[in-house]
Amino acid sequence: MKSSRPEYTPVNGKTYSLFGKSDSTAGYYETIRQLADKVLALNPVTRELVEGIRNFSLRKKLLKKSLGINDAGNKMPVILNLIDPCLKKYTENVEGHLRTLPLSKIWDRRLATTREQYHLYMLEIELTNRLFRTEFINANKKIALLPYCLRDFSASCKAAKNGFDYQCKHCSAKCFQNHTSEILKSHNIEPYIWMGGNMKQLAKYTFHEKRTFGILGIACVPELTFGMRSCRKNNIPVVGLPINANRCIRWFGEFFQNSVDLDELEKLVKNY
Ligand code: SF4
Repeated sequence: MKSSRPEYTPVNGKTYSLFGKSDSTAGYYETIRQLADKVLALNPVTRELVEGIRNFSLRKKLLKKSLGINDAGNKMPVILNLIDPCLKKYTENVEGHLRTLPLSKIWDRRLATTREQYHLYMLEIELTNRLFRTEFINANKKIALLPYCLRDFSASCKAAKNGFDYQCKHCSAKCFQNHTSEILKSHNIEPYIWMGGNMKQLAKYTFHEKRTFGILGIACVPELTFGMRSCRKNNIPVVGLPINANRCIRWFGEFFQNSVDLDELEKLVKNY
């Protein structure tokens, strides 16, 4: 079913929303692009920068201490102080969530993500996209992993297992999963709703066939960041888009309708 796009209304997350206080996510993407340009002007070697941000983001206490300290000789605190004020409007609920996080959950690195970490992760995602976009587009086999929470919860979902994992059957015009899958397929990317498909086996098989392999991920900010790190570590070209807010069972104990910026998805996968 090919149809006009679903209504694009602001969604609020447990900790973040890419809408901020706006009725669109365009502002977030404009902001993150500008910040990435500025950060790359400080250090033009993208790979080195991405891994530097990754290592810095592991040190929660140091991140807090670095706020407000602009020692020009120390690149990572300079970057954090540059991005922090501009991204704060998208992460307003983080501190409230952390205050109420039960002790039993503080070791869950996704649930316990701090505000500074969110901002560094957002930058890391944008820089990883810049690093791998061309390689991803040129890969022989490209798959996309989509989160379950992008589907239309008012429909009786017809998605079914097909090869690697579940695929959408396009039953609802209001469903973001449906539109995301259509965009991906039109760019020769196989879309899957990730319910537990064996990624290692798929990558092994593809490499064995001497084909190049790329992955596109859509997930909440921490989940996407960790997935992209794992791909980088395994030399798999990876790109991704953060889902507009974190609204799934991990965060709320139940699923709520979610969305992703379909215009940004088109930009990411388009072969210029
Ligand atoms: S459009 Fe696809 S993902 Fe959405 S409810 Fe229907 S089958 Fe499920």
